[in-house]
Amino acid sequence: MLKLDGATVRFRQRAALDAVDLEVADHETVCVLGPSGSGKSTLLRVVAGLQPLDAGRVLLGGADQAGVPVHKRGLGLMFQDHQLFPQRDVAGNVAFGLRMRGASRAEQAARVGELLDLVGLPGAQRRAVAALSGGEQQRVALARALAPSPRLLMLDEPLGQLDRTLRERLVVELRSLFGRLGTTVLAVTHDQGEAFALADRVVVMRDGRIAQTGTPLEVWQRPASEFVARFLGFENVVPATVTGTVAATPWGKVPVASGSPQGEARLLVRPGGVRLVPARDGLPCEVVSRTFRGNHVALRLRPGAGPLLEAECELSASPEPGDAVGVAFAAGGVVVLGEE
Ligand code: ADP
Ligand code: MG
Repeated sequence: MLKLDGATVRFRQRAALDAVDLEVADHETVCVLGPSGSGKSTLLRVVAGLQPLDAGRVLLGGADQAGVPVHKRGLGLMFQDHQLFPQRDVAGNVAFGLRMRGASRAEQAARVGELLDLVGLPGAQRRAVAALSGGEQQRVALARALAPSPRLLMLDEPLGQLDRTLRERLVVELRSLFGRLGTTVLAVTHDQGEAFALADRVVVMRDGRIAQTGTPLEVWQRPASEFVARFLGFENVVPATVTGTVAATPWGKVPVASGSPQGEARLLVRPGGVRLVPARDGLPCEVVSRTFRGNHVALRLRPGAGPLLEAECELSASPEPGDAVGVAFAAGGVVVLGEE
């Protein structure tokens, strides 16, 4: 459906997009994730035709889009500041793309009704957009983007303005909606929770380049580099020397999977790979703090040597701050990270 081929954009000498190759298949939801300034919006603007390329190509359905204007690309766009028309009511906003295409009034009305049902705002046609809540405005913006049945829907930080609870709910709704409609989606966000909840495939960007691509599970379980690991919020990253299936680290010997890269490396221990054992049986640590996260507890542990360790455990098995515990490492939770 969408293919970027060596897409490059430079602002003065600096590359905002640096030879990016990316494909999005029909019916796939791809989420581009990266810190602010990593080139996410530039990527979307290039696909939309709002930003010219300095090198490379954008293909939609196999056709090179060079010279094809924005409104001829068949895209649905929904950007952060969702830019509803404040002087129009909800129906007037949703019908925008249909009017542009010259749909009859009757067609417009039918499609608007259909879309408002779909986004959970049935009967909202005559409401003023200024009187809607943030979440309702977001739904109207989505209905507007979907109304002309775009071949590709592009979302830029779609839920960025909303509070956390609403965002989490809308993400789940969006995912199920896109599944039902079979929409092809390219979304960008700096929020990893949003990306992982929405995407079939995640693309992590850094400085205009793709740092890693994979399913949410693949990226979560095996971050490719220290950058990706830290961006996902993992903190247990240390220098290590890997020999066979053992890594020497500041925390002592840590088992790694067979076939891991050998020699000097950076090592990630996911919190799930840190097991609590009786103090005398493992690496002795003191519990520094604990945070309740639904059905598990996140712990910060201070070992005798090496940096603090993030661990997690069952609610019912949680030690308290100040307690002495032992730590054992499980190879399944340990990742030898690649070069940046
Ligand atoms: P993101 O959406 O990931 O935050 P952007 O794509 O907006 O990142 O920006 C990527 C880089 O390109 C940033 O360093 C930004 O400052 C720069 N940039 C974006 N748009 C322009 C522009 N119109 N002129 C100059 N620099 C720009
Ligand atoms: Mg942006």
